[in-house]
Amino acid sequence: MPNQFVTSLQCLKCGKTYPADNKFTCQFCGDEGILDVQYDYDLIKSILKSQIANRSYEMWRYRELLPIEDSAKIPHLKIGWTPVYETEKLARYIGIRKLYIKDDGRNPTNSFKDRASAIGVLKAIEFGFDKIACASTGNAASSLAGLSAAVGLQSYIFVPERAPEPKVTQLLIFGANVFRVKGTYEQAFELSKKSCEKFGWYSRNSGTNPYLVEGKKTAGLEIAENFGNDLPDWVVVSVGDGCTIGGIGKGLQEMKKLGFIERIPKLLGVQAEGAKPVYDAYISGKDLIPSDTNTIADSIAVGTPRNWRRAIKQIRASNGTMITVSDEEILEAMRLTARLAAVFGEPAGVAGVAGLKKAIQNKIIKPDETVVVVITGNGLKDIQSAKVAAGKEYVISPDIDSVAKIIE
Ligand SMILES: *Cc1c(COP(=O)(O)O)cnc(C)c1O
Ligand SMILES: [Zn+2]
Repeated sequence: MPNQFVTSLQCLKCGKTYPADNKFTCQFCGDEGILDVQYDYDLIKSILKSQIANRSYEMWRYRELLPIEDSAKIPHLKIGWTPVYETEKLARYIGIRKLYIKDDGRNPTNSFKDRASAIGVLKAIEFGFDKIACASTGNAASSLAGLSAAVGLQSYIFVPERAPEPKVTQLLIFGANVFRVKGTYEQAFELSKKSCEKFGWYSRNSGTNPYLVEGKKTAGLEIAENFGNDLPDWVVVSVGDGCTIGGIGKGLQEMKKLGFIERIPKLLGVQAEGAKPVYDAYISGKDLIPSDTNTIADSIAVGTPRNWRRAIKQIRASNGTMITVSDEEILEAMRLTARLAAVFGEPAGVAGVAGLKKAIQNKIIKPDETVVVVITGNGLKDIQSAKVAAGKEYVISPDIDSVAKIIE
């Protein structure tokens, strides 16, 4: 039984609609025509508000808003409803009245991507596949590997040459078939796309798969439900492909339609200076031009983002804006978030904190406003960058004098 609340898939570029089946992009717009899942919100409204109080705190509590069948067997892992912390010390240090951190590094494979992969594996099963594939800078892959292990699918994963070792190790331990492609993320992406066509695998690639962003939007649904009408003024999110911020924006818009909140917080999208094609398209108002990538924030080092239209559409709809940060600012944010809020994020995970600090300095965000920053990935994903940020330990001989020398 298909999800009765889903009405169609609609092209984000030309607006044409399609039935909600195993379709990827618009037949008129090609790869540019990302499809967006449409729902019957009147029907959902009559059900969700009365049901939600009885449901467990995880992403599936918004079942009517997810494109999955009634009979779908939900993975046993706990995904979503990640903790939200008020962080007074970090707020004071960077000069903002109230700062909350939503720690999505607390998902089962330690990144935001679990929200999307959970939908990906259920769609693969629904459409009759037993193999699923993706290309990823790391987290989409490790989460796909973990979720595939949870539901019993075989996974095939293409990672770019520079994917950090801890992430690749995560793939292998979950039993994925891993191809390390001697090339960039873009090359890995093309190869995974061709392989899906040639070998008949289901594609989890989040830029073009219309369903995955529906998982990502659950963070927006959670923020809305969590804060209700005490919603913060801003939600800050790092941007690579654009699915995360686009999804969160969609989730917030839906919660407004459903009457959970009265307004939408402004979205601040943060890119790395060394990989900022979405930022450039946002500023110029023109179509995106692919760029080179050069940043330590590997999870947002995307030179050819697929979902930039969705990202920019949601940022504009929220009256938000975008900003870029340097690698130095990202490393500083890693230290600050760990030392003042005790949350350890990977570089892309804390890029939002760096963006917030800069947005306050640039008077984009005012000191009396309130903010939620989404920490999108755990710091142990990339220990090399963490070590650059953290500095070195003291190496000493096992006697008290050595300790004393350093203490004095
Ligand atoms: C994927 C990812 C992002 C960005 O998400 P996009 O959908 O690519 O914009 C940010 N942070 C982390 C840790 C990620 O893994
Ligand atoms: Zn189209």
